[in-house]
Amino acid sequence: MQRRRFLQFSLWAAAALPSHYVLAARTGRAPDVDAVTGNGQQISLRGSDLDELAGQLQGQLLLAGDQGYDKARLLLNPSFDKHPALIAMPVNAADVQSAVTFAKAHALLLAVKCGGHSSSGQSSCDKGMLIDLANLRGVRVDAEHRRAWVQGGSLLGQVDQACVAQGLVTPLGTVSHTGVGGLTLGGGFGRLARRYGLAIDNLVSVDVVTADGRLVHASEQENADLFWGVRGGSGNFGVVTMFEFRLHPRPPQVIAGTISFPFARAREVMGVWADYASVASDDLYVDPSLVLPPAGAPGMVALEVCYSGPAADAEAALAPIRKLGKSDRDTLKTMDYLAVQRANDAGDSRAIASYMKSGFVTRLSGDLMTAIVDGIRPDPRRTTVLFFQHCGGASSRVPETATAFAHRDAIANMMAVVAYPTVADPKDHIAATRSYWKGLEPFTRGFYVNDMAREVTAAEISESFRGNYQRLAALKAKYDPTNLFRLNANVKPAQA
Ligand code: FAD
Repeated sequence: MQRRRFLQFSLWAAAALPSHYVLAARTGRAPDVDAVTGNGQQISLRGSDLDELAGQLQGQLLLAGDQGYDKARLLLNPSFDKHPALIAMPVNAADVQSAVTFAKAHALLLAVKCGGHSSSGQSSCDKGMLIDLANLRGVRVDAEHRRAWVQGGSLLGQVDQACVAQGLVTPLGTVSHTGVGGLTLGGGFGRLARRYGLAIDNLVSVDVVTADGRLVHASEQENADLFWGVRGGSGNFGVVTMFEFRLHPRPPQVIAGTISFPFARAREVMGVWADYASVASDDLYVDPSLVLPPAGAPGMVALEVCYSGPAADAEAALAPIRKLGKSDRDTLKTMDYLAVQRANDAGDSRAIASYMKSGFVTRLSGDLMTAIVDGIRPDPRRTTVLFFQHCGGASSRVPETATAFAHRDAIANMMAVVAYPTVADPKDHIAATRSYWKGLEPFTRGFYVNDMAREVTAAEISESFRGNYQRLAALKAKYDPTNLFRLNANVKPAQA
């Protein structure tokens, strides 16, 4: 039955594609191209092999200089400026299979891109192959059975819009241009996660192109080991071409907005949040942030709120925040959930040249609050932000070993971000963040693979997957023994 729905969806998706995607396969002979393998060996790809690949694709194959190459190679964070040797732009799962088979045959360094939000810059690469899923986007909702089928390159906003139009929702992230692919494979926290769980907790099945080029369906019933691994195991096991999500009925509106206070009240506001973050109702999601803007503008401490429960209970749920009294700004009001989901699309500091360190916290101690407030330093050349994504609630009531995502005990994901002009030399900004983070890191327990810093080591990744790492390594050996999919929170294949 599920298989039949998938096939129906594929036909629908092909019919829905603008014809130029289907017809724009590369024409003309490709030159030989210098490339690099996953192990860093320099190789030359023959033009005839590239022509053969282009002939297999319904979508495009792009080389440097081709129209669309520069758009495809870049990520949201412009400080990552990488130049792949070739870029495949699949329009269907068969294209993904051809691209993966080619990458495997040539042992190419391989990157996979969905929304391009990677904090470690791993969804593009230098001299390897990039599979950019930007033309593999579409959502089909079955309102009766409360399911959504989402193609592997889709963005969150597309899913939210299609679901809300049917009076339904699935919990995804907080910025609508984030990719469903990366967000879901790492876990997927959002404004409704405390109520409905993480994105992976609402995943029913996936279609994955594995390293051997097969298209594999995985769910609790079929290839259950792979299904366990993709729920939190990052992009380690293949290219997901389709996500099937469970949907929840809900009214289109929530109570949401931002309440901000002068920076001088940071300790008090953070203390109040620390006291009730772990005991708040599942309907309440509150992300605090400390923001120090550039050029000496006044700093602030802000609480971004989304309350999704019954309106009659809202004031009781919000009482601890209200007790903080007079604020500088309060935009809290009844809003369309879709508008809330788009509200930070432009303003998120991670959406410009930025650097981030992050880690999960399981306890919001007084010492941590002191380290946060005393350690943060303004600098006229950059925006410095320390922010927390509120976890817990339904997302914490799933056993640590039920999915590859292990951080069920986290009450918040803490992120220190600096944002700076793209033209600036980032060294100083990065050094300042690392120095601030030194004081915060002892309070963390592992990190979110989706907010991984650039310089994370293999040992740190292994430690962060906690008790799930060995099982992930065994799965990796089964599905990707040569570590083709290595540009992610990489799990090394277990040795036989
Ligand atoms: P990409 O850079 O395209 O991909 C990241 C990695 O995911 C790739 O390297 C690849 O390994 C893998 N990948 C992507 N798609 C596929 C696929 N279809 N098949 C196989 N592998 C794939 N996270 C949250 O949980 N909640 C939030 O609210 C949230 N908000 C964010 C807001 C901003 C502005 C930013 C920059 C990040 C945010 N994040 C959030 C973090 C986000 O989850 C990660 O950056 C995630 O990797 C983004 O997914 P993407 O598809 O856009 O990224």
